[in-house]
Amino acid sequence: MNYTVYMADTTDHFVGLQAKINTQGEKLIQLQLPAWRPGRYELGNFAKHIRKLKITGDTGDQLDFYKLSKDCWEVNCLNQDVITLSYEYFANQPDAGACFINENLLYLNPVHCFMYVVGRANETFTISLDIPDHWRIACQLPQYEKKLLANSFDTLADSPLFASPNLIHHSFGLNQSTIHFWFEGGVVPDMQLLEEHTRKYALAQTEIFGELPLIDYHFLYLILPSKFRHGVEHADSTVIAMGPASELVEKSFYNDFLAISSHELFHLWNIKRMRPAEMLPYDFTKENYSRLGYIYEGITTYYGDLMLLRSGVWDLNTYFSSLCGDLDRHLNNEGRFNYSLAESSFDTWLDGYVQGVKGRKVSIYMEGLVAAWIADVKILVQTKGKYRLDEVMKRLYEQSYKSGRGYTQEMYKNTLESVAGISFENYFTELIDGKGNWDKYIAETLEYIGLELIVQKDELGNLLSRLVKKQQMSNSQAEIFDFWIK
Ligand SMILES: [Zn+2]
Repeated sequence: MNYTVYMADTTDHFVGLQAKINTQGEKLIQLQLPAWRPGRYELGNFAKHIRKLKITGDTGDQLDFYKLSKDCWEVNCLNQDVITLSYEYFANQPDAGACFINENLLYLNPVHCFMYVVGRANETFTISLDIPDHWRIACQLPQYEKKLLANSFDTLADSPLFASPNLIHHSFGLNQSTIHFWFEGGVVPDMQLLEEHTRKYALAQTEIFGELPLIDYHFLYLILPSKFRHGVEHADSTVIAMGPASELVEKSFYNDFLAISSHELFHLWNIKRMRPAEMLPYDFTKENYSRLGYIYEGITTYYGDLMLLRSGVWDLNTYFSSLCGDLDRHLNNEGRFNYSLAESSFDTWLDGYVQGVKGRKVSIYMEGLVAAWIADVKILVQTKGKYRLDEVMKRLYEQSYKSGRGYTQEMYKNTLESVAGISFENYFTELIDGKGNWDKYIAETLEYIGLELIVQKDELGNLLSRLVKKQQMSNSQAEIFDFWIK
């Protein structure tokens, strides 16, 4: 399929898309637009952003088409060799997962706005960008002049792009791969320092999985004028939108900038390659329910920060302050008494990205992080520091992605048990599938590593926690603590 993308209306934020489609002699073909995007497990219903949809035949005459569903169109292409599909897509959402256009930026997350022919999602896509010659393009897809090439719809859908005259680029080698930073927004941090920090945490992450399975990886940073924080993972890239630009040089902002970057990089293994069986392949037309969000988001959230500590980018105080922020969100959510982590994962399709009804659910990010922490320390204790959750992730990566299949809860449980050498039955029944058992597990974990969680109430009645080392750690506590932070 050959697509041309042009800047239809930069004032009102419409991107123009035109596709030439060989009918392959079919009388009827169906064109499908995705209903959701990987990374956000809820329906996005992108078809609501389409206007002026038109389909013409060989001689330029309009062809009949009608909708089979909210985002699937059937075209009558009797006696046509090549049909031309054209439409405009409303692109005015400058976050990390959507699309945006103005006179100086074309930013697309293709899963929003490109269609595929039903039954032909595995064909090659060529994307020609009709943009000014001096603009630069940042994208994980191979480029030739102003053309991008994707070997399937899945690859295209997963390949966000920035095109702009203002992109600032920096790259460096890491093992056999090249890491790229692309900055849009006119502000950049100290690039040498960012390179040094990225190198450290990226190498530490690579060590866990045993490989950096790509040639190039692109960080696409969209630096915004006002307060913002959002990141979305892709196989060989990530888009991270953060603001305000004026704070980029400030230490706490920069630390958070590193935290989100480390989280998204970890996803290149955990979800973009190893993935729950029920999401392999993605079905873009409807909900892809999974009870395993505590693995793909929870474990990623845990490692995002932990790898900054373990690789020496963050000091212990910075890590503890971030962990306490996460624990505060856990402690202040009474949903932990009412709904399990696995149930909350299933329900991201319902209300996973809004606060939702008070006390209804937990978060696959926050409670998922806590569950990962508990498992990590449990393994360290049981194996006297020989193994930790790293080994579980490595084995799960090999058993799933490297073996060409998705993972299941049973695979994860078996791997935890074989690495730790003990049963994780209670961990799953009480914590992952249960509710209200968090305090016991958190207390046990703190005891193992010789930490105390001091919880106070602020003036609004919210719980605020602080982590401190015990005055007198036993030898075994000191030993497990050292294993944990290294
Ligand atoms: Zn994530």
